[in-house]
Amino acid sequence: MFINLFPSKYNNSQPTFSGRLPRGFFTDVRDVPGIHCAKCGHRMLSIPEKDKIINKMSEGARTVLQRPVFNKYRELPVFQFLLKISEHHPRTSIADLLDNNKKAVKRLNRSSKDMLEEIVGISNDYIKKSPQVIRFLYKYRDGMPCEYQDLLDYMKIYSMLYPKNTFSEIFSKKEVIEYHRQKQIENQQQFNKNNIQVFKKLDDIAQKLPEELQAEFLNLNNEAKNITKNRLFPETTKKMMLQELYKNFLNKVQDKKISLRIKNQVENFPNRNTTADDCIISLSNKSDKYILNNILQYVSSTFEHIVAASKNGTKALSNGIYLCRKCNRERSNVDYSTMIEFFPNFVENMQKQINQIMILIKNGHMKKYSYPLKVIKTLENALPVPLDTNIKKYIKYLEFKEQEVYEKKEKAMRRFSQYMNRYTKVDAMLAKKEAEIEELRAKLKALEQEKMSLEQDLDDSYEDVKKSKDNLDFFENEHDLLLKALLNDE
Ligand SMILES: [Zn+2]
Repeated sequence: MFINLFPSKYNNSQPTFSGRLPRGFFTDVRDVPGIHCAKCGHRMLSIPEKDKIINKMSEGARTVLQRPVFNKYRELPVFQFLLKISEHHPRTSIADLLDNNKKAVKRLNRSSKDMLEEIVGISNDYIKKSPQVIRFLYKYRDGMPCEYQDLLDYMKIYSMLYPKNTFSEIFSKKEVIEYHRQKQIENQQQFNKNNIQVFKKLDDIAQKLPEELQAEFLNLNNEAKNITKNRLFPETTKKMMLQELYKNFLNKVQDKKISLRIKNQVENFPNRNTTADDCIISLSNKSDKYILNNILQYVSSTFEHIVAASKNGTKALSNGIYLCRKCNRERSNVDYSTMIEFFPNFVENMQKQINQIMILIKNGHMKKYSYPLKVIKTLENALPVPLDTNIKKYIKYLEFKEQEVYEKKEKAMRRFSQYMNRYTKVDAMLAKKEAEIEELRAKLKALEQEKMSLEQDLDDSYEDVKKSKDNLDFFENEHDLLLKALLNDE
């Protein structure tokens, strides 16, 4: 029952298209720069934009080592060693690389180690240190979840305390981890204390409920306990979830006074929310790349299931709008009607986003013609209010486009029938010629037969000639003999 509340989409990020396409053409809205979140209205980072920033802000060993400043070291075995270990992890910083290859580094001789230190020293000038990184990240603070806003404030302070370190190094410092772990523990203790009080009050209320409602109420309270202590969702989301959880039950409670008491309790549940301390602990011992990605993902574009995945919503495009991760997380699987109670700007920003996408399609940056039509339909089923988008204009555009396509099709069909006519004519000619060839072949065959029989006749005549000549020879011989005999007798 409880598992249903938390859709698995938070574990698997959706695949994105990364093939090469002509500039300015997109297959996925998440790749388009300048799209505004459909909930908070902030400009979101597209996925390629986010990746570009991360690579720029956490330049990996591979790129750093290509710089001309290292030319004089390039032939040295120790430099080759660095290049080799950077090959498999081109985006890891040199410091992290050496850390991951401690054993191999240990085996190097004294002078190689000195040389390595020199190279790392130079490379440090090219690695973005905390003040540079925070100056950049701070621009996105407004669009971040509360705990990440606090985190950025901490990062700002740390960048002043440790200006020569990267955040990866700062978040791995013993004193930093210790400090935040302590605050984490205090926070948990405070929550436990408040939690016990609230659930004690709820138990008291349960006693006053009619017997047939008590078991259901206790079950709901247990589920509420799970929601309040879950740190995956922000405070507002939990409030929305709790409101939805008790909604049906509150309708069953006849006593107005008790119903009001429950309502008050539900609205004032203490939540164990993620804090900046939790963030820092989870970012300790992680690379700069990981840290940047973890922070920037909250202002980056994500696909949001309108009908939540946990409520059988499909992954189809028509079931999605685009939210920054902060808002996507806030929504969780709460109904849209509850959402707009808590976030009145939601509908307006949704409309703005759909209009933005319609313009993208009109300008030829995308080919998802049916997306606006379909998603508006899905939204109108999910929302209690009608939408006000430029859809009429868009439909006109589609009709215009359809007319254009229809005309092109007509033209193509005309050309096709012209070619078809020519084809038929040529085909008929071909058949006629083939018949003629057939006739000639028959004639040729007859002539060949005639030739064969003539040849036979010729052979026979030759035989006759030969026989006649033999006879002639014989009679000539006879004649000679007779003549000789005749002469002798005389
Ligand atoms: Zn947002």
